[in-house]
Amino acid sequence: MAEEKIRFETEVSRLLHIVANSLYSQKEIFLRELISNASDACDRLRYEALTQPDLTAEDPEFRVRISVDDKARMLEISDNGIGMNRDALISDLGTIARSGTSAYLEEHQDDEGADLSTIGQFGVGFYSVFMVASDVEVVSRRAGEDQAWRWASDGTGEFTISEAEREGRGTTIRLNLRKGEDEFIDPVRLRQIVKTYSDHIALPIVLVGDDGEETVNEASAIWTRQKKDVTDDQYKEFYRHVGGFDEPWMTLHWNVEGKLEYRNLMYVPSAKPFDLFDPSRKHGVRLYVKRVFITAEADGLVPPWLRFLRGVVDSEDLPLNVSRELLQDNPMITRMRKAIVKRILTELGKKADKKPEEYKTFWDNFGAVIKEGLYEDFENRDQILKVVRFHSTTSGDDLVSLTDYVGRMKKGQDAIYYISGEDLDQVRKSPQLEGFAAKGIEVLLLTDAVDDFWIPSIGVFEEKPLKSATRAGADLDKVTAEENADEKDADDAKFDEGKVDALIAMFKLTLQEEVKDVRISERLTDSAVCLVSDEGDMDLRIERMLKQHNQLDETFKRILEINPKHPLVTSLADSVGKDGAGKKVEDAAWLLLDEARIMEGEQVPDPSAFSRRLNAMMSSGLPG
Ligand code: ADP
Ligand code: MG
Repeated sequence: MAEEKIRFETEVSRLLHIVANSLYSQKEIFLRELISNASDACDRLRYEALTQPDLTAEDPEFRVRISVDDKARMLEISDNGIGMNRDALISDLGTIARSGTSAYLEEHQDDEGADLSTIGQFGVGFYSVFMVASDVEVVSRRAGEDQAWRWASDGTGEFTISEAEREGRGTTIRLNLRKGEDEFIDPVRLRQIVKTYSDHIALPIVLVGDDGEETVNEASAIWTRQKKDVTDDQYKEFYRHVGGFDEPWMTLHWNVEGKLEYRNLMYVPSAKPFDLFDPSRKHGVRLYVKRVFITAEADGLVPPWLRFLRGVVDSEDLPLNVSRELLQDNPMITRMRKAIVKRILTELGKKADKKPEEYKTFWDNFGAVIKEGLYEDFENRDQILKVVRFHSTTSGDDLVSLTDYVGRMKKGQDAIYYISGEDLDQVRKSPQLEGFAAKGIEVLLLTDAVDDFWIPSIGVFEEKPLKSATRAGADLDKVTAEENADEKDADDAKFDEGKVDALIAMFKLTLQEEVKDVRISERLTDSAVCLVSDEGDMDLRIERMLKQHNQLDETFKRILEINPKHPLVTSLADSVGKDGAGKKVEDAAWLLLDEARIMEGEQVPDPSAFSRRLNAMMSSGLPG
């Protein structure tokens, strides 16, 4: 039967190029990946055999077999798992399943010799064989089918598919080693690699040597072992088997006994996966029933706001024939989820309190995901609030909790203040914060898009309303200034209210419908003006965020706040009513409004008018 040539998907070609040129020092990890795939293939067949026992009747003992041919410089890894038919070979070994990969590779396509650890996250384990092999041949026969197929490639542009012979089901992968990779035909080295990387694998890994066959690994599922019998390295290796590509930030291994019995081995990653916010992304927790793999997509087992978790849950009570589709509503799953959520939140809380530095790493990666729980998961809201942390105007690099914040509120302060924006540094410089700084009032700095959703849905924490610093009615008057607070506040320069009122009247006349109101500001100390939204209106940062995402058409008018003590404002107020001041005050009104917009990071609606006014103002200020 003729051989068919098929080109790799573009993404795969690019990826293979990165792999082949990778400077990755631990080439031996290709073996871990192949064993991991073999183990997955056995898991999948074991599951199918629950309903179709014929599939495994002839050959019921699952195993992986590794053998070498030193003369031919050939390494062979063979399993009796589910196998692949022609279609599966083409799609599984010729494409990349995960969405978002393309965009990521686009960004990194010029990284010659990129670190494999960064591409590890795509589930591209198989392709790592091309680090050590010049040619690879896969012969596979799908369980329950008679025809076997051969896939072969040298890892450049294309692969071939043809009919083949194979005794029994499963997959055999034959590597023609590249020059200089002889260590991978040395049985001593191979045994050592398997021990290091695959000891946690639950099925026997058999090394075929001159003196017969030897099972190299422990061959018991790692989560069934006692904690004390598992080394850190074994935990880490298992983490890779469940899709981790970095180091685990936290590893949790616990058993639950009683009415429901199940074992859990869970990991929190230390790095953010590239597709964390991809709507199609699933969590990484695999469900087993009595050591039999059921599914990696048990929706009800882990809530979406914990989707960064990886690991295993192994239940003793679920029926083995549990339907994957019905898992979501299974009451046992629900009970397990509740317990898992509680445990994870407790452990996160402990870390947050005891190791704030380490917690910060976690929070930077996954805080935005956890916060989704605040509006999606009403039941756990209070627990979640305990582990939520913030940057604030007074905390420097440290993160603060809402409880910390409330504990240090100023006398007379009756709200929790926050300000939101896209970028931390920029938010810190917001003019609206000046008055808060002068009074020593802490303001939480929010920079995640989800903040705009959970804040309104929570509204209040420990009876203190959450209020935006960019909104009118901040009531800063009531708060007692600190002894050591900003000097500027203490000297409390007087201003002529009558004159400022006249100026404001002029501004209103000039700006008319452009603003909702013009008012004296309580919150400015250094800047002359700023924009705020009216009490009942949408927060102006939220409005901008929603507009950027095309989720809002409406535009709310803003209030222009004026700092009456600012020298520019006092001289403008002095000039009102004087000869020839009219036009200048009008220009000033427009210019100051534009200035306030610029400080908000917004566009000036009429740049040419802005330039004209600015030029006129500058010329009139020049001597002579
Ligand atoms: P991942 O394991 O993360 O899915 P891989 O690149 O390691 O990514 O493997 C790609 C796919 O190829 C697997 O998901 C599986 O469907 C298939 N596959 C690889 N090796 C085997 C095998 N030994 N038996 C059956 N299927 C396999
Ligand atoms: Mg794999």
